[in-house]
Amino acid sequence: MEGGPAIPHGSSSPHHYHVDTCYLRPILIERDDDRDLLEAARRLVNRADGRGVCASVGVVGETIIKADANSSEGQLSSDDLECMGRNLARYIRQGRIALCSLGSADNSEVFFRRALEIRRADGRIGDMDVLILASALGCPDCEVLYTNDGPMLNSTSLRAIAQEKPLALREAPGDPISRRRRGRPGARR
Ligand SMILES: [Zn+2]
Repeated sequence: MEGGPAIPHGSSSPHHYHVDTCYLRPILIERDDDRDLLEAARRLVNRADGRGVCASVGVVGETIIKADANSSEGQLSSDDLECMGRNLARYIRQGRIALCSLGSADNSEVFFRRALEIRRADGRIGDMDVLILASALGCPDCEVLYTNDGPMLNSTSLRAIAQEKPLALREAPGDPISRRRRGRPGARR
C-alpha cells in the first residue's frame, strides 16, 4: 500500500488533555450526524489557550475502526481515509494534536501493570478503553481525559485509580451525547 499523507512524529506543544475516540473521530472525518458533537469536539482541538490535545495510539486506531463501522455506505471510502490522514497530519503539524504511545519514557512494564490494574478494577470496561485510560495515566503532562464513555465515567473504581495521578475523567463541554444520556433538562432527544 502506498500514498497518503505522512504523519509527523510529534509535536513540541504542551498538552494537558487527552481525548477519547468519541471526540477524535468527528474532528478527523470532518462530519458527524450530530452537529453539536462535532462542534464540541472542534472546540477541544481549537482551544483558546493554544494547548493541543493528545490522542493515544489506541485512540487513533479505534477512530479508524469506529469511523468504518459507522460509515453510512457500510465502509469508509478511500477519500474518507485520505481525509482523516490529512487532517491528523495537519493538526499534529499545527501542534493541536499530539500523539502518545505508552506514556512516560515508554516504560512498557509500568504501562502493562497499569492496564492490568484498570482491567482488574472494573471488568466491564472495554479492552480498547483499558489501553486508552492507561495511556492517559502514563502521560506525564495529562491532567484530563475527555470522554463520553458511560462505563468509564460512571465507574467509581476507575475514578479512584484516575484520582491518584491525578487525572480527571470528564465530558467535553457542550457534548450533546452526554446531556442526552443523563437526561438533563433541555437535552435533545
Ligand atoms: Zn499525552
